[in-house]
Amino acid sequence: MIKYNLKCKHNHEFESWFLDSKEFEKLKSKKIIECTLCGTNIIQKSIMSPNVLNKKQKEKNAKILKDYKKMQSHLIKIQKFVEKNFEYVGENFSREVRNIYYDKRKNKNIYGKATIKETEELKEEGIEVGSIPWLDSKKDN
Ligand SMILES: [Zn+2]
Repeated sequence: MIKYNLKCKHNHEFESWFLDSKEFEKLKSKKIIECTLCGTNIIQKSIMSPNVLNKKQKEKNAKILKDYKKMQSHLIKIQKFVEKNFEYVGENFSREVRNIYYDKRKNKNIYGKATIKETEELKEEGIEVGSIPWLDSKKDN
C-alpha cells in the first residue's frame, strides 16, 4: 500500500491509499479518483510535504554533524597539544595547581580534572585556570 497526497484542480488537498503507483495511474487515467471535497476527477499528486521536511531536516542535520566534526577535530588537536606538553594529574588537579602557585620554584604545566566548585575556589584564590571540553575518558581508566 502506498499513500499519496492528492490535489484536485481547485487545490483541495486530500490523502488516499493505493495498492501501488501503477494502480494510482490506472485509476487516475480512468478518472475514478475524485476529490473528497468537490468531487472533481481532475486530480494530481501533490508534493509530498513530509518528504520536503525530511530533506530540509536531513540537510540541517548534515550541517550540524559537519560542524560538530570540525569542532571535534579542533578539540582533538587541542587535547593532543595538552597531552604532549602538560603533565596529567587527574583528580589532584586543584591541589597540584595550588602547589605550583604557592611554591614559586615549581614551574610546570599540568592538566587534570576539577569540579566547578574547585575551579571557583581556585579563581577566588587568584589562580587562573582554563577549562576545555574533553572528548574521551581514556585517562579515567
Ligand atoms: Zn476539490
